[in-house]
Amino acid sequence: MLETEHYNCPYCGEPVEAVLDLSGGDQTYFEDCPVCCRPILFTLQIHDGEWMLDVRTENE
Ligand SMILES: [Zn+2]
Repeated sequence: MLETEHYNCPYCGEPVEAVLDLSGGDQTYFEDCPVCCRPILFTLQIHDGEWMLDVRTENE
């Protein structure tokens, strides 16, 4: 199950679109910002069909 989520890059503040694979359960992974190319730490948490995405810089 794929969901699309919009977020603002924690480095450059640009709005970016992420495609999330909710079938994988809770996930933590890095993905480079398509605008500034710096590594964003994604934390995806899923509980009872509700999901939440958190984006941080690698040093937070
Ligand atoms: Zn960026």
